[in-house]
Amino acid sequence: MNEGTSRREFLGTLAAFLLFPLEQEKVDLILYNGNILTVNDKEPRAQAVAIARDRFLAVGSDSDVLNLAGTATRKIDLRGKTVTPGFIDAHSHPAEAGLMHLRMVDCDLRSISAIQAALRERATKTPAGEWVLGFKYDDTKTEEGRPLTVADLDAAVPDHPVHIQHRGGHTTYSNSLAFRKAGIDEKTPDPPGGKIDHDPATGKLSGRMAESANALFEKAIPQNFTRDDHRDGVKLISKMMARTGITSATEAQGTPTDLRAYQDARESGDLLHRAYCFINFHFLDAMIAAGNRTGLGDEWVRVGAVKLVCDGSISERTARLSTPYEGRPDDYGILVMTEDELYAVGRKAHLAGWQIGTHANGDVGIDTALRVYERLQKENPRRDPRFRLEHCTVVNDTLIARIKALDAIPTPFSTYVYYHGEKMRYYGAERLNHMFALRSFIDAGIRPTQASDYPPGEFIPMMALQSEVTRTDMKGNVWGPKQKITVEEAIRVGTLNGAYASYEENLKGSIEVGKLADLVVLGRDPLKENPSTLVKIPVERTMAGGRWTFES
Ligand SMILES: [Zn+2]
Repeated sequence: MNEGTSRREFLGTLAAFLLFPLEQEKVDLILYNGNILTVNDKEPRAQAVAIARDRFLAVGSDSDVLNLAGTATRKIDLRGKTVTPGFIDAHSHPAEAGLMHLRMVDCDLRSISAIQAALRERATKTPAGEWVLGFKYDDTKTEEGRPLTVADLDAAVPDHPVHIQHRGGHTTYSNSLAFRKAGIDEKTPDPPGGKIDHDPATGKLSGRMAESANALFEKAIPQNFTRDDHRDGVKLISKMMARTGITSATEAQGTPTDLRAYQDARESGDLLHRAYCFINFHFLDAMIAAGNRTGLGDEWVRVGAVKLVCDGSISERTARLSTPYEGRPDDYGILVMTEDELYAVGRKAHLAGWQIGTHANGDVGIDTALRVYERLQKENPRRDPRFRLEHCTVVNDTLIARIKALDAIPTPFSTYVYYHGEKMRYYGAERLNHMFALRSFIDAGIRPTQASDYPPGEFIPMMALQSEVTRTDMKGNVWGPKQKITVEEAIRVGTLNGAYASYEENLKGSIEVGKLADLVVLGRDPLKENPSTLVKIPVERTMAGGRWTFES
């Protein structure tokens, strides 16, 4: 390090002293001899950090930082290992996923017969007549190359109602007993915004239901989770996420129950990642009446945006598009809420000071959500509303210009190209160059985030990096190469941009004096790694607020 750098670092340290009252300056921990990628433009690289309580007290060279050590300071030699800020998953469903992992059959299996076997096994442990529930089923990943049918499920489990959610979360598959229990038969009409599938040859129920039709099952399936179950679900998923380097995650479709579960998990010492808890719009009135709005809480559990839903899903081909899906000339996808409905709820939220996050995947969905945001801002301009477009998958130049004009935040799927490559062919080569459009967003000065949407997508940050940098799936197929970004950009997308999306860019997202000590120690340097093996970089340790949340 040259003298100029040292002086800058020294001044940085002085600034740190000013931030903390003198009696609290005790340095608890120093990490040194590291290759620290700070994501701070003023000081992109450092060797060492000093941590006091839950914050970075100093960031700089080994000699400067080690000088701050007191007698009680613990020192850890990073032995040249690479450190990044903790990763922020800006859109996923951890609370729900945790409950699912506790209670449901994980149907992420590679054949229909394997799924049947797993369901059968669960049924033998379940009293007759009670529900057998599954999740993470993916029709594109089974070797039979066809979707599950009522007959498959009846054959596997005849005496229990069976209801399975698709990995994407927008379609479900049920057996005959489940349909009977829910009061659905082949004459039941499609509800608005939903679809009950029929076998085209026989007209009988196929077993598949899409979008709002799934609500017909909600009353039939008992919701018998206890308060402890909800806390335990958060505990389980939080552990799973910490292992991969995640220190913060947005709960993208949260409820008051989820908000309580996060608080309970935090109180019992089991919350290992920071939660920005969106609130489903059905609870908006109650939340407003109770005086809640976006931002309430603290750095561990905070009330996030209100969640609205405009269209369907990418993996299940229900996203609303302006041109039809490949090979389905009449299929443009589904609009779940009308523009008027979105506006009515959005206005209420906007006036009450809430951030709004609207699920919008297809270009028609995104256009609709933007029209609502533009109207809200025109009628009642608010400073820095940070409107969010959840997923914001299929875009074009006009949409990008409108997103930039509003300074809205897209949260595109980060691991889809790598993990769900087989679904990319529904969209065609040309459209893929306008999907998960990180290159276009960054070039336009927009701040996209890293977002797994787990369970639909995998949440591993190193997989996100590889997917975004290579635009290549597991089998080596390249999808939409024009949207490739650099490793450095992908790290920023996964850290500082995520913090910005929750109004917390002054609190976390980079390794900077005064910010929360959230970081990841990696086994290898992603900037020196072959891009096609980024996903294999091991996470050695994860820290949130100065505490190790994972150690390998
Ligand atoms: Zn989602």
